[in-house]
Amino acid sequence: MITELISVGTEILLGNIVNTNSAYLSEMCARLGMDLYYQTVVGDNEERMKHTVKMALERSDTIILTGGLGPTQDDLTKEVVAQVLGMELVEDAHTHRRIEEYMENYAKNNPNRKITDNNWKQAMVPKGAIVLDNANGTAPGLILEKNGKTAILLPGPPNELKPMFEEQVYPYLRKKQPDIFYSQLVKICNIGESQIAAEIQDLIENQTNPTIAPYAKTGEVHLRITARAKDEKEGKKLVKPLVRELKIRFGKNIYATDERKTLEEAVVDLLKDQKLKLSLVESCTGGALAARIVNVPGASEVFGTGFVTYSNKAKRKLVMVKKMTLKTVGAVSEKCAREMAKGGCAASGADVCLSVTGIAGPDGGTKEKPVGTVFMGCCYQGRVRVREFHFSGNRAKIREQSVVYALAFLRD
Ligand code: ATP
Ligand code: MG
Repeated sequence: MITELISVGTEILLGNIVNTNSAYLSEMCARLGMDLYYQTVVGDNEERMKHTVKMALERSDTIILTGGLGPTQDDLTKEVVAQVLGMELVEDAHTHRRIEEYMENYAKNNPNRKITDNNWKQAMVPKGAIVLDNANGTAPGLILEKNGKTAILLPGPPNELKPMFEEQVYPYLRKKQPDIFYSQLVKICNIGESQIAAEIQDLIENQTNPTIAPYAKTGEVHLRITARAKDEKEGKKLVKPLVRELKIRFGKNIYATDERKTLEEAVVDLLKDQKLKLSLVESCTGGALAARIVNVPGASEVFGTGFVTYSNKAKRKLVMVKKMTLKTVGAVSEKCAREMAKGGCAASGADVCLSVTGIAGPDGGTKEKPVGTVFMGCCYQGRVRVREFHFSGNRAKIREQSVVYALAFLRD
């Protein structure tokens, strides 16, 4: 089923609002196995809307429009689509009654506000339309079917659109779509994208259903496995052997097989499992690493102390980095990262301490230690492992990479 999204609203064109409806609906269409080929944004302009709808109906089977269903003058979506499809507008008694109820409630809660007559415009629907109740507003959604084409009209506000889609549109589309797409994400850290690509080349070459696609993220790689199936249960069954195969190939470098699980959650889980307390000593990340850990609910069970030792003085005073180290090899060095991690363990009494020291730029780089040079130390049971990284990009990007690689290092 070729599908097309049309987001209506001048505000979107002007960049005043972000088109989150299109992101949401695209994901839903993918889940339903619909072939979403086009997306358009059009302003609240009758002629341009008409043109857009006509073109969409020529090339797509199903068009989904959002926005412009409200009571005001510039809300034209329903009128335009009805006109293009040649459907006349008639009053829908059920919707009229619902608007009345909504208004009565509104009047009770807002005694000083006047209810305007233009609200009744929302009770007019194209003849033969399937009317979708709006639990959170007055404008109903609509499904129009004509000449083998389907137009689905949804209100703009996301809190009205989402429940309407999930409760009423999804089941409608599901009936028309024999297959769904079931997908699962496998998240990997501590291995580079090209190595992963090489190691799954055979799987990619032989894939039919499910398919596998890699996505590189900062410091990690996600593999999306997607199966076409008749329902979720069958989808899960089809995806399972491939996930198992990836677990064999990438072992503990897979930190999650759940879409929502973050790297910091995986780190906190690991520490919880092993009953270990973590401390952090941060220089160039300036507390950003601690912030990521504290994002995880229940982090207090495993994380107690974080030092931000930005200056040399702080490194010496708080985590006992040797004066000599700072003088000879400097703060951005393997030796300093080692001493920071060891000193962090001692000063906090934690079981594990991770240190980060580097040059985020734009100044401060030298020929031997260019901007982006970052050292990390991980102290556990008195032993310190140190890693050297060379990141590229601007200050923000280098700091972000430092945080992600530090989390991955903790999991390693
Ligand atoms: P209303 O009855 O509130 O007028 P409507 O269906 O006419 O709803 P619009 O007037 O186009 O919708 O938009 C109303 C509000 O909904 C916008 O101000 C914006 O906050 C939100 N909205 C509209 N379109 C989108 C979109 N594509 N993504 C995210 N939010 C949107
Ligand atoms: Mg509106």
